[in-house]
Amino acid sequence: MSLIVQKFGGSSVADAEHVNNVAGIVTDTYKKGNNVIVVVSAQGDTTDDLIEKANEINPNASKREKDMLLAAGEQISISLLAMAIEKLGYPVISLLGWQAGFQTTSAHTDARIKRVITDRIKKELDKKNIIIVAGFQGLSRYDDITTLGRGGSDTSAVALAAATHADLCQIYTDVEGVYTADPRKVNNAKKLSEISYDEMLELATLGAQVLHNRSVEMAKKYNLELEVLSSLTCAPGTIVKEVTNVEKMLISGVAKDTDIARISVVGVPDIPGLAFKLFSKMAAKGVNVDIILQSIGRDGTKDISFTVAKNKLDDTLEALNQFMPAVKAQKVVHDERVAKISIVGAGMETHAGVASKMFEALFDAQINIQMISTSEIKVSVLIDLADADRAVSAIHSKFFDEV
Ligand code: ASP
Ligand code: MG
Repeated sequence: MSLIVQKFGGSSVADAEHVNNVAGIVTDTYKKGNNVIVVVSAQGDTTDDLIEKANEINPNASKREKDMLLAAGEQISISLLAMAIEKLGYPVISLLGWQAGFQTTSAHTDARIKRVITDRIKKELDKKNIIIVAGFQGLSRYDDITTLGRGGSDTSAVALAAATHADLCQIYTDVEGVYTADPRKVNNAKKLSEISYDEMLELATLGAQVLHNRSVEMAKKYNLELEVLSSLTCAPGTIVKEVTNVEKMLISGVAKDTDIARISVVGVPDIPGLAFKLFSKMAAKGVNVDIILQSIGRDGTKDISFTVAKNKLDDTLEALNQFMPAVKAQKVVHDERVAKISIVGAGMETHAGVASKMFEALFDAQINIQMISTSEIKVSVLIDLADADRAVSAIHSKFFDEV
């Protein structure tokens, strides 16, 4: 007998028909003799709707009260799913995060799971119950309800699978797995049968919204294999694990991030310590700097350019404006019409020429590169936003059509 954790996202439980479909998947798994723990998100756009409701009443509401409200979304979906399973005649119980033993930090709206106390879960498994757990929530040490940040129920599922030593953790969603590019935008995007944690982490961070990146970090930490698959087709999905043994593809995916802005600090003195001063200022403001480019000094001055998330642009510009006179910069310019296109793949650690193949694809499409950055398993370029989709297609066909 195996213990299987199954997680269903908001779109998989959006309405009665979908809830009944999920009840079918869960009870099929149970019927085969498995113990089943299910984690669910709030139905459809419930969480967004709740946020809107809060904003109508008090946009400055405390995070504690926001959590109290947001956690309600999952309470609806777990009880409805339990009812659908009752109707099919199976033993089932729904549990809120705290009942399932989720203890978290007290950082409201962005809490981290500290531990999962599995006593109650074990009792319910002993009673042969199918257990339906509310994702995205837990309890702080002050006994207040917390939530884990948007998309956090993936992380709930992985934490629960780790804490109960589950044999399998399946993440059901509305796509059939992890693709080599966004299948809605790139016609011949292919579903990957496997992907490594590190590749998945890069893709998750780059905005390929299949898995919450903290869930992938946690799965890696506990060496827990995840399967991403569709609740509508149940076709074999993508396995996320440490080492993939499929014949190494050069890259596993092309991703696009348009939530980014470029800032250039022009004409700063070409002396030691400037980058340190500049970026420590950014760090103090909580601004995460991504691609950084410094020009070669010319006539005693140089330019430093970097990218930040769009929602940090105002904070960054404000910090820079205070700081500019002190470092004698000539001016600060910024551009929001940019996109970051990245290729990710463990294959590039051992193969030369991957970056140049990407650059060739961009050259063929006559797309200009503004900035480049690389890591062991990733190459990113910054380009004009208007070229973004064209760039993804060009790069994707360079790597995936020619083989
Ligand atoms: N319902 C929450 C959200 O929409 C958590 C989740 O979906 O994972 O962010
Ligand atoms: Mg959701």
